[in-house]
Amino acid sequence: MGGGIAGLAAAFALAERAGALGELLHCTVLEGQPAFGGKIVTHHIHGLVVEGGPDSFLTTKPAALALCDKLELTPQLINTGQGNGSALTYSKGRLREFPQGLIAMAPTHLGSLFRSGVMSWAGIARMAVEWWVPARPATGEEETLAAFFSRRLGAEAFHRLIEPFVAGIYAGDANELSAAATFPQFLEWEHAHGGLMKGALATRRARAAHRHGSASRTLFTSLRGGLGDFITRLVEKLSEAGVSLRCGANVLAVSMGGRHGGPYRLELAGGEELEAEAVVLATPAYVSAELLRAVDRESATLLDRIPYASTITMSMAYADPEIAGRLRGHGFVVPRIENRGLIAATWSSMKWAGRAPAGQSLIRCYLGGRGREHLLEMDDDELTNHARRELDMMAGIRGRPFHVEVYRWPRAMPQYVRGHRDRVRRIRRGVARHPGLYLTGAAYEGLGIPDCIRDAENTAHALSDFLWSSTFDRRPVAIEDAE
Ligand SMILES: Cc1cc2nc3c(=O)[nH]c(=O)nc-3n(C[C@H](O)[C@H](O)[C@H](O)COP(=O)(O)OP(=O)(O)OC[C@H]3O[C@@H](n4cnc5c(N)ncnc54)[C@H](O)[C@@H]3O)c2cc1C
Repeated sequence: MGGGIAGLAAAFALAERAGALGELLHCTVLEGQPAFGGKIVTHHIHGLVVEGGPDSFLTTKPAALALCDKLELTPQLINTGQGNGSALTYSKGRLREFPQGLIAMAPTHLGSLFRSGVMSWAGIARMAVEWWVPARPATGEEETLAAFFSRRLGAEAFHRLIEPFVAGIYAGDANELSAAATFPQFLEWEHAHGGLMKGALATRRARAAHRHGSASRTLFTSLRGGLGDFITRLVEKLSEAGVSLRCGANVLAVSMGGRHGGPYRLELAGGEELEAEAVVLATPAYVSAELLRAVDRESATLLDRIPYASTITMSMAYADPEIAGRLRGHGFVVPRIENRGLIAATWSSMKWAGRAPAGQSLIRCYLGGRGREHLLEMDDDELTNHARRELDMMAGIRGRPFHVEVYRWPRAMPQYVRGHRDRVRRIRRGVARHPGLYLTGAAYEGLGIPDCIRDAENTAHALSDFLWSSTFDRRPVAIEDAE
C-alpha cells in the first residue's frame, strides 16, 4: 500500500515478474490520498509546469533511468538547460559562484574557489591538505556528516561547501545525520583510497576508462512535462497489466489472520476489510509503524524512531522580463551558518526547458527543514512575503509574481540520523519474521527517487520469490541464522 513512486514501482516490478514467469497476479495498490504520486506532484497552469515536490533525479544511480526506459519515457527526459549552469551560494552578503566540480573533490578547482571569495585562504589551505589526512581507523563508532567532513576538509569547507548541499537533499541537520547512511560512497573512498580527493580521482579514472561515448546526460534530469508524467505512465502501465489501483483507500491497520484464510487482514477507513497473502508497506515510516503495531510491536517502535523533517516549496511565476536578466546560473544554495529562511532557490525556467512560456520566469524556493519547521505555520501570504524579501535581499529580485503556489510538506523527509543503518537492519529482521510482509520507500535505503525505485524493485523480487518460487520455504525467515 502507498501509491508514491516506491509503491507504484514495486507493483510494476511485481507485474513484470509475474508476466515473465507466466504467473497470475492479483495485486491492488491502495493509496490513501485522492491521487497517486505521494511526494511527486506536478501542476500545469497558465503554461507553467510547477513541481510541488521533487523536480529532478540523479542520473548517476541507474534505477530511475532504467524505469523510464521500460515506461517508454526516455525521449521525454531533459537535461539541465540554459545559462552557464554554475553553482551559486549565498555567502558573506552576496551570491558567489563556485566551481561545479568542487563537490567532486577535484583539487584543481581550489584556485577558482579562492577567486569566488566563498572561503578564506586558511580554509582553502586546510581543504587542500585533505590529501594527506589519514583515514580514520574503523572504530565502530558512527560519525555524523558534520564530523566526517570537518575532519577531512576542515570546518569552514564543511559549513560553506558541504552543508548547503546536505540541507538541499535531506533538509536535515548535518550534526545529526549519519555519514555512513547518507553518503556511504565518501566513506568508501576514505577506506579504499585513503581520502576524498584520492577517491574522486580514482573514480574519475575508472569512469573515463569505461566511457563508451553514449548520449550524455547532465547530473540531474527531469521529464519534459514534469515528474508527474512518471506517475501517470506507471498508473497506465499498471492498469494495462491488470493491477487494481485504488485512490482514497486509506488503510488504518494490518493484522494477522483473515477471516477467509488470507494471512493478512487490512482494515480500511469506512469499515471495508481486505485480505491478502502478502503486503508491501510503501508508506512513510511513522505510518508503517501505526499500521504494523498489532503485527509486530517491536518493529513498529523502531520505525517510530526514524525522525522526519518538514519542508516547503514555493513556486513563483514572473512576467517581468527584468527578472530574467537577474537570474545567473540555475539558482543558489544558502549555508545554514548564514542564518536565513531559505535553504535554496532554483531558477526553474532557466534550469529546465519548457517550465514557463517565453518571456516569463519561474522561480522555486525551498524552505523549512530541520530546526526551521516553524515556517510551515505561516500562511501563504506571510510565506510569499518572506520568500520575496529573501530573494530581494540575496539575489536582487524585486518583481511581483503573478502566480504563486505553496506546497507544505510536513514530516516528508526521513532523517538518516546516527544509528539509522542498524535500526533499518533490525526493522528488516523483525519484519522478515512475518512471511509475505515487506517495507519499502524513502525511509530506509535512500530517499532520492532512484534509491526509492531500486529498493522497491528489490522488494518486488523478494516478494515474487516468496509467491512463486517452488523451492521457497514459507516458514518464518530467521535472518540471524543466515548471517
Ligand atoms: C519537497 C521535496 C523535494 C524533493 N526533491 C527531490 C528531488 O529533486 N529529487 C529526488 O530524487 N528526490 C526528491 N525528494 C525526495 C523524494 O521525492 C521522495 O523521497 C520520494 O518521492 C518518496 O517516495 P515514496 O513512495 O517512498 O513515499 P511517498 O511519496 O511519501 O508515498 C507514500 C504514499 O503512501 C500514502 N499513504 C500514507 N499513508 C497511507 C495509508 N494509511 N493508507 C494508504 N496510503 C497511505 C501517501 O499518501 C503517499 O502517496 C523530495 C522530497 C520532497 C518532499
